[in-house]
Amino acid sequence: MTAAGNIPSSTAMSLSPRTPSPSSASASAPPAALAAPVLPLVRLVTMLFLATPLDDPAELLGQLPSPVDTGDVTYADPAAALAPYEDILTDLTLFKTDAPLPATILEVNGEPADRISALDCWLGQRILERELEAINTLLCGPCHCDLCCTGPTGEQFFFEIPLQDQELALFPSLDHIDTPASRKATAYDEPPLNINGRPFYQRTSPCLIRWRTGPSLILPRGSRCPRLDQGRCAVYPQRPQVCRRPQIFPYLLEAEKPQQGAARTFRIRRTLLAVWDCPYVRRLEDAIAAYGRLCGLEVLFRTNKG
Ligand code: SF4
Ligand code: SF4
Repeated sequence: MTAAGNIPSSTAMSLSPRTPSPSSASASAPPAALAAPVLPLVRLVTMLFLATPLDDPAELLGQLPSPVDTGDVTYADPAAALAPYEDILTDLTLFKTDAPLPATILEVNGEPADRISALDCWLGQRILERELEAINTLLCGPCHCDLCCTGPTGEQFFFEIPLQDQELALFPSLDHIDTPASRKATAYDEPPLNINGRPFYQRTSPCLIRWRTGPSLILPRGSRCPRLDQGRCAVYPQRPQVCRRPQIFPYLLEAEKPQQGAARTFRIRRTLLAVWDCPYVRRLEDAIAAYGRLCGLEVLFRTNKG
C-alpha cells in the first residue's frame, strides 16, 4: 500500500486550506515574510532577554530599537514583526527559570535535549507554524487549486485529514467508523483496517474514522471533501486546524507517536519540508529555500500525493 509517499506520516496527513476567494496577494511575487522570517529576530530577542535582568519579555519587546538588523535580515519595525507572536514569546521566561518544560524534547539521537536547545525549538516550532499559516493563506487562493481537498488520483490509495473531536461536526453527512478495531489501528498500519471485509481505503466515498491517534477524514482515491463546493471550502471560517496549514511544514520538532500515559514527546529535526505538489511551492522554490536557510533549517522538497 502506498499511503502517503515518502513524506513523514505526520506531514502526509496535513493538508492546507482552500481560501474562499482569490486574495489580494500577487500570484507571482513571494510574500515579504518569506524574505524576512521572524525566527532570526526571535533568536536575537532571546539572546537580548537572557542578557538583561528583565523578567517580562513584553518589557523587552517594548524597548526594541528600530530598525533591527540580524546580519541577514533587517526588520524595519521589529515590534510590529513580533506582535503576532506575543503570546508565544511569553515562554521566553522559561529560559530564566527551572520550571518544567511543556513537553519532553529529544535530540535526533533520542538523548534528552539540553534546556536551551529544547526551548529554542519549542518556541520556534510554534512561531513558524503561525507564520507559515499566514503565508499559506496569502499564497493558496490565487492558485485556484483544490488539491488539498481531494483524494489522490495516482498510486496512493487515500489521503488523511486528521481532525479534532469538535471538528467532526463539520462533516455531518459522512459515515463515522468508530469500532474497537479502528481504535487500535492507525491509517498507515499494515495490514490495513478492514471495513466490511475490505481495506478501509477501498471505499468510493469519504468517511470519518476514529483511530488510535484520534479521528480523521479519509479521502479515498478520486474522492472529494464533502465541504468542497465549486472549488471553495464551504466551511472556510470554521475549517479544521490541519486545513489551515501550509504546504511548507516546519519541523524544528516532530511529534513522537503518543505512548499511553507518557508525556508529550518531540524530537528535534531542524527541517523545513515543502510539498512539491503545491503550485506555489514549485513557483517559489528559491524563496522557500532561502526562508529555510535564514531560519537555520535543512530544506527538503518532497512529493506528497502520488
Ligand atoms: S474542510 Fe474540506 S473543503 Fe474545507 S479546506 Fe478542509 S479539506 Fe478543503
Ligand atoms: S496544493 Fe497548495 S495551492 Fe493547492 S489547495 Fe493546497 S495549499 Fe492551496
